[in-house]
Amino acid sequence: MKLNNYINGVWQEEGGADYTAVLNPANGKELAQVRLSTTEDVDQAVEAAKVAQKKWALVPAPKRADYLYAIANIMIEKKEHLSQVLTAEMGKVIEEARGEVQEGIDMAFYMAGEGRRLFGQTVPSELENKFAMSVRAPIGVVGLITPWNFPIAIATWKSFPAIVAGNTFLWKPATETPMMAYELAKIFEEVELPKGVANIVFGSGSTVGTAMIEHPDVKVISFTGSTETGRGIAELGGRHLKKISLEMGGKNAIIVMDDADVDLAVEGILWSAFGTAGQRCTACSRVIVHKSVKAELEQKLVESMKSLTIGDGADESNKIGPVINKGSLDKIESYVQIGKDEGATLLAGGSILTDGDLANGNYYAPTLFTDVKWDSRLAQEEIFGPVISLIEVESLEEAIEVNNSVEFGLSSAIFSRDVNRIFRAQRDLDTGIVYVNAGTTGAEIHLPFGGTKGTGNGHRDSGVAALDVYTEWKAIYIDYSGTLQRAQIDNN
Ligand code: NAD
Repeated sequence: MKLNNYINGVWQEEGGADYTAVLNPANGKELAQVRLSTTEDVDQAVEAAKVAQKKWALVPAPKRADYLYAIANIMIEKKEHLSQVLTAEMGKVIEEARGEVQEGIDMAFYMAGEGRRLFGQTVPSELENKFAMSVRAPIGVVGLITPWNFPIAIATWKSFPAIVAGNTFLWKPATETPMMAYELAKIFEEVELPKGVANIVFGSGSTVGTAMIEHPDVKVISFTGSTETGRGIAELGGRHLKKISLEMGGKNAIIVMDDADVDLAVEGILWSAFGTAGQRCTACSRVIVHKSVKAELEQKLVESMKSLTIGDGADESNKIGPVINKGSLDKIESYVQIGKDEGATLLAGGSILTDGDLANGNYYAPTLFTDVKWDSRLAQEEIFGPVISLIEVESLEEAIEVNNSVEFGLSSAIFSRDVNRIFRAQRDLDTGIVYVNAGTTGAEIHLPFGGTKGTGNGHRDSGVAALDVYTEWKAIYIDYSGTLQRAQIDNN
């Protein structure tokens, strides 16, 4: 199967294009060949989006929203199929894949609802017989660049608000996970979304991504991926005066206080650290534990980790699937070595798994280090794999300081039963998302998603906040006095 671009409502012909293989990370088998597009392909998609946008912006927002309702309904019908494709190309276990598809469905309904809101403001004018209001105006053609770890959810976080707000877009999915983009494009086609509103251009970040950012007719770039890539995009986009929304890396922590329900904390840690094999931007990779419960937590974590079954995510009995590719395995392995060299104590895991069928895929053993120093590389850098670092602290103040010591600020969590501590923590934890008595993952689509510091640049996906990325505020004054009224002058 060859995956070609979807531009202006048409699937591109092969036309001598280059392709690269898409592999199932669970077993190394080839799933498809995906096109490596050129800058000419990008130009074609931008042109289609530009032409379509003029008409699309004039379609009433509730009508634009009707397409999202139709998309949501087809996603519901196809939920199991989409989930299976997702697991095959990305590796996450099928239960989590179903959850991710559901997130896309939820986002479709939520943003469809925005078609009848898109609230602006009406305010009183300071002058007589004058009316004042603000409206959200579409921006134009937007460029979406997404990672492989949430191949459908993140695409819906970006494309659905863009659509309802009256923009058109071109989307470059990650080369590792183009099949979800192909599936979503087929749904756009099925609901007869007008030609050119949604365009998908497969290919590398360096060629396709760069061409999107540099194209003068692409007004907004919405990116999710690593902080390193995002920084480059911000630099290049800044030179072209683009509006750039960045959602990037994390080094998220769970704080376990001395008054915590330790068993509940163990459940939260396992789910947050090892779900999606630790490859969530919100994955828990640090556990900041009060010294009086450290031994108990270590013992319970090691014990519970024995129950984590590892293997192909398509098999319902497995709790943890593979990581995305060999490069990722090598990166995780190198951080485990760094941890050992830094003097951390390895309590569990710490190796690539190669028993039987696992040898054909990319499997890493769930790994637990303790006695990790808060400022070590193991505790500061994003690993993006199933590795937890336990850091001991003596107080809530120290726990918050350690949490805030990293360059990222996406998600944090605290397990405690003391309401005073909880309220101080939610105020002082410097992250875009804070959980209380839950793990670091589990965002719902109707609140803003994003982070502080090196995780973002002030924008948010999800919730009403996402509309800020895809709209411009327009202030409108209507003077019906029949005279020239000068604000600040004639009324003072
Ligand atoms: P990545 O940065 O390697 O790639 C992300 C996307 O950017 C891909 O589509 C890639 O092809 C493209 N890209 C690469 N180089 C580019 C360039 N020079 N110009 C334009 N585009 C380019 O990230 P990844 O490995 O796919 O994903 C993992 C990272 O994503 C982690 O750091 C994770 O924390 C982060 N992430 C963040 C969030 C969030 O919302 N904060 C969500 C999911 C993942």
